[in-house]
Amino acid sequence: MKYCRFETNLGPQYGEVVDRAGTPWIERLLPRPEEDPWTKLASDAIEPLPLMKAKLLTPVVPRKIVCIGRNYRDHAAELGNEVPKEPLLFLKAPSSVIAAEEAICIPSQSQRVDFEGELAIVIGKRASRIRPDEDVAPYIRGYTIVNDVTARDLQKSDGQWSRAKGFDTFCPTGPLVTDEIDLVAGVTVETRLNGELKQHGHTRDLIFPVDALLRYITAAMTLYPGDLIPTGTPAGVAPMQPADRVEVTIEGIGTLGNPVI
Ligand code: ZN
Repeated sequence: MKYCRFETNLGPQYGEVVDRAGTPWIERLLPRPEEDPWTKLASDAIEPLPLMKAKLLTPVVPRKIVCIGRNYRDHAAELGNEVPKEPLLFLKAPSSVIAAEEAICIPSQSQRVDFEGELAIVIGKRASRIRPDEDVAPYIRGYTIVNDVTARDLQKSDGQWSRAKGFDTFCPTGPLVTDEIDLVAGVTVETRLNGELKQHGHTRDLIFPVDALLRYITAAMTLYPGDLIPTGTPAGVAPMQPADRVEVTIEGIGTLGNPVI
């Protein structure tokens, strides 16, 4: 199933997204997921509307965002880094999340703000210490797209990454969540800046695949429904300027587009 969260005249609602002749439509309202106690399901049915016409909100409200650094060989190499021997984890501030089509704001403190297109796991069930022989699938609600926006200069000069990755608007997320991705076959991850292809990766090249990441993370910290795990970015990261438009496209999910101001 695919779902989004969107603004209605009854307030924010979750909606099932279905394909109608190649175009995604919001067909019916869904109950809120447990991480979002603020949304109340409207009792009325809605008129189906094309996803493109909806005012989209972030499809998840994460308590935490656990990111993976350098999880593609070609990206580690382009920044002159070794391939890590274990997953490299860092936390991104939940307050940095914005929806599709909301603006990424370049902060005055940075001279270089990069995009990082990434496939992100959405957790569906409390997960702690997943065993080596245990199937991770029951803990995964689905997948979405994240742009892990990064102030590259501050990432280097700060020595750790909280500020460089945590500015307001630095985590565009969406446009929807889907469980219809076949991770065995994998999906392509592409990022375009002003229409020009900059990143073209495939999840088969992840150094640490999804099951290894979830085992590694939950050996340290409990994951809760709605938590987001961006899985790392392929090569091709580059800076954005005000008035640019950045789009991350993942097969089977769609395109996450954001203007830059
Ligand atoms: Zn990243």
